[in-house]
Amino acid sequence: MNKKLFVISGSSGVGKGTVIGGFLKRNPQFTLSISCTTRKMRPGEVDGVNYFFLSKDEFKDCIENNKFLEWAEFAGNYYGTKQKYIHQCLEEGKNLILEIDTQGAIQVKQKMPEAVLIFIAPPSFEILEKRLRGRHTEDEETIQKRLEAVKKELERAENFDYKVINDDVDRAIQNLEDIIKGELA
Ligand code: 5GP
Repeated sequence: MNKKLFVISGSSGVGKGTVIGGFLKRNPQFTLSISCTTRKMRPGEVDGVNYFFLSKDEFKDCIENNKFLEWAEFAGNYYGTKQKYIHQCLEEGKNLILEIDTQGAIQVKQKMPEAVLIFIAPPSFEILEKRLRGRHTEDEETIQKRLEAVKKELERAENFDYKVINDDVDRAIQNLEDIIKGELA
């Protein structure tokens, strides 16, 4: 039996990793897709676990050979989801979660209209900026690029099926769980 694909997007610093992580802890039967990226590995990240870290040339080869279900340039780096991996997971009957940016989410919806798009929104832009700076993992130039990306993401989020506001992590996890379970009922 074919299962559902849930695409979750949210601006950098919105805490979507925490919300998705909390959901997966409570629902380990869901599979989180591993994306490819050309960005540098952050401390603590592992190749093949957090991402498949590719060089720009390797990534371009995948684009030319039509390997991606979707891909996007985000804050100066490339990110993409491999087509074959997604179809394999769905055929194996896994419920899949893709944590990708809004440009990618819209591409997925065009190719697979049955995909469910969920946007995790910050309580406000100012709170998001504070959180992003508080992370201390990026330099000022990178933060500025990411804030620009955030504005675009909030605009694209208008096309999503659902919005979850992350003003309280536990409540956001519960909200996400209710949406997903509702779609599967
Ligand atoms: P980060 O560099 O903070 O891990 O991710 C930056 C952005 O890239 C996030 O919005 C994340 O959701 C997005 N992203 C991660 N993987 C993919 C992917 O496979 N495709 C697309 N389009 N975006 C992705």
